[in-house]
Amino acid sequence: MNVLVTGGAGYIGSHAVKILIEQGYNVVVIDNLSTGYKDAIDSRAKFYNLDIRDLDKVIDVLKTNKIDSVIHFAAFSLVGESMEKPLKYYENNVYGTKVLLDAMNQANVKKIVFSSTAAVYGDKDISPITEELEETPSNAYGETKLAMEKMMKWADIAYGIKYIALRYFNVAGAYFTGEIGESHNPETHLIPIILQVPLGKRKSISVYGNDYDTPDGTCIRDYIHIEDLISAHILAMKKLEKDNSSNFYNLGSGMGFSVLEMIEAARVVTKHKIPVIISERRLGDPARLIASSLKAEKELGWVKKYTEVKDIIGSAWKFHQLHKDGFNNEN
Ligand code: UDP
Repeated sequence: MNVLVTGGAGYIGSHAVKILIEQGYNVVVIDNLSTGYKDAIDSRAKFYNLDIRDLDKVIDVLKTNKIDSVIHFAAFSLVGESMEKPLKYYENNVYGTKVLLDAMNQANVKKIVFSSTAAVYGDKDISPITEELEETPSNAYGETKLAMEKMMKWADIAYGIKYIALRYFNVAGAYFTGEIGESHNPETHLIPIILQVPLGKRKSISVYGNDYDTPDGTCIRDYIHIEDLISAHILAMKKLEKDNSSNFYNLGSGMGFSVLEMIEAARVVTKHKIPVIISERRLGDPARLIASSLKAEKELGWVKKYTEVKDIIGSAWKFHQLHKDGFNNEN
């Protein structure tokens, strides 16, 4: 089976590429390397350095490689940046998806698994979050992902493109070998930033606000291991094959950890002191996001392998020790 992975050079995309290849799929990658790294792409994949907004070239890739299914990761994903530059997010995420769907329709590729986000739910005082809750994003990033989901709904009705949107909570950790992992430049995500302290790259970690309505005042998130996340994508792709009907699912661990709890777990894993500085809240951050993934478990048959946050942090620690400077595109 031939699978196109957009954004296959990014953190999540590169894990999908490797795991798909390990499972025997033929994988084609499109990535413009704006935030991803060529070194993160498994060398067994066929790589196109291409922007998903380049309609004619995307049609060509789909046709030339006889693509059966698309897994779509190519998007910007930083909440803070999306609040400062919302139009940058609409341009890449929403318009990029529009072009991709157009290309799929023209190339007669009718199945797509798509990376959505828990941010579509916004700041809800409800825990855990189920798929029945209303979507009310509280940041521009979540709003663009919701717009992408809605676009897929109408593309299904009009062109019969079937989609499964997967609403991720906080994706974390690295492939068990430590070959690939989370590497952004600049880094904004909690676990890699925490690990920069034991790596000697920063002296302390800033905690964005300790006056939230949570037990220790810091934000609570649901951290899901990257390998578990990717296994859900593969199950979703198989479900589309089998049922040919569109749907959406939450993907999370169902457990919530505060920022301070994550830092404490990282201290245990790395055996380093990790000093904390309490700073201002970050714009757009909801206090608490915890998933119910029962729907994915029931309907996709999804079973998680990683249930301990220290194992998730441990896998990230392994990657960062092997790649102290992360990836870069210079060689
Ligand atoms: N966070 C923090 N300090 C940092 C980076 C993140 O306190 O240097 C907090 C952030 O406010 C949020 C949580 O850690 O509550 C997870 O943030 P991240 O950016 O990793 O993921 P997000 O929840 O935005 O998807």
